[in-house]
Amino acid sequence: MKKKICILGSTGSIGVSTLEIISKDKKNFDVILLSGNSNYKLLISQAIKFKPKYIYSNNLFLIDKIKFFCKKKKIIIISDLNLLKKVKFDITISAISGIAGLLPTLNIIKFSKKILIANKESIICGWKFIYKELKKYNCFFVPIDSEHFSISNLIKNKNKNSIEKIYLLASGGPFFGKKVNLHKVTPAQAAKHPNWKMGKKISIDSANLMNKILEVIEASLIFNFPIIKFKIIIHPQSLIHAIVEFRNGLSTMLYHNNNMKIPISNSLYDNFYINKKTNNNFSYDKALSFYNPQTQKLPSIRILGLKKILNETGFVLINGLNEILVDKFLNNKILFTDIVYKLLTILKSKVVKNYLKNNKIRHINDVFTAYNFCRSIVI
Ligand code: NAD
Ligand code: MG
Repeated sequence: MKKKICILGSTGSIGVSTLEIISKDKKNFDVILLSGNSNYKLLISQAIKFKPKYIYSNNLFLIDKIKFFCKKKKIIIISDLNLLKKVKFDITISAISGIAGLLPTLNIIKFSKKILIANKESIICGWKFIYKELKKYNCFFVPIDSEHFSISNLIKNKNKNSIEKIYLLASGGPFFGKKVNLHKVTPAQAAKHPNWKMGKKISIDSANLMNKILEVIEASLIFNFPIIKFKIIIHPQSLIHAIVEFRNGLSTMLYHNNNMKIPISNSLYDNFYINKKTNNNFSYDKALSFYNPQTQKLPSIRILGLKKILNETGFVLINGLNEILVDKFLNNKILFTDIVYKLLTILKSKVVKNYLKNNKIRHINDVFTAYNFCRSIVI
């Protein structure tokens, strides 16, 4: 039987990588749902190739652009995933970027037997709601952010108490070890990641280490360990993705080429990746190197020291403020260095302190209230 596939964010970097894997093995996969936001041309070309039953989007511009095509091809456009009828996807890939992925991720779980989540922002902002849905609908969850995919492999069948520390590895971004005036960096320069080709938002997050801060939060929620259990290490080659140090003095690490198709494919197939070329070339003389991140050069690391912010509501604020500031930088409204500077300043402010004192995340709507609060305080 072909596996029924749903891809939220099919036009993005993770979505496209997933479809490339699937296109090599069409006899085993049936793509039922695709989704996009603004790139209607790519979405149409994906729909021509994979013939989905549904296209999901709530972007009116995109819907307008694809409606005649969809009518002709008998593809149903839905702008609310709860409108899906009698479908159970074997595998869903959650790969919308940012908090925009939270509700779609939550809503799709009841229709999915297994969900591969790349969208870290939804985990950071709504893990307890996602977890509840996963349990309620018996949906199997696999993290495919490469570090989290690595950690889940490294700690499989291990006693939690045997783990001393978990290291998340970061490339250091395009400016690591280079003499660059960071105040003058343009969005295009910051988005040029040395090792991975990714969406704009995550690329900017990687350039100032915010991606790793978000990933530490993501990992602490998924694996249920306190933040202090995690440490960030700069590893410019991006070949080791996580290291787990055990109390018995042994450490294990996971090595794979810096290609997101490896965690995606292993998760789609439960442990399989076709690559005709040699996967790991250990013979080259480039040594693997590891550095401690320097707080002076990468001040975002300070966020992990703001203990009063490191709670459920605080995570939503860190994520929301960062998302808003990245957007401002991408639109040339603030400098690259302003992202972390403003983020730290706001997080330490009285107004945030008061907000945290008076607001808890009890309902999913509270996440969006917190997000609106972030909008109101970013100048
Ligand atoms: P991307 O920008 O390339 O793609 C984002 C996708 O989300 C697109 O399909 C876009 O249409 C859709 N989207 C954006 N805004 C939307 C909105 N408001 N409503 C509905 N859909 C919307 O991003 P990406 O690099 O593929 O990353 C996706 C997610 O996966 C992010 O959360 C990122 O942190 C995570 N992730 C990505 C990588 C990677 O290598 N790209 C690695 C690990 C984790
Ligand atoms: Mg990652």
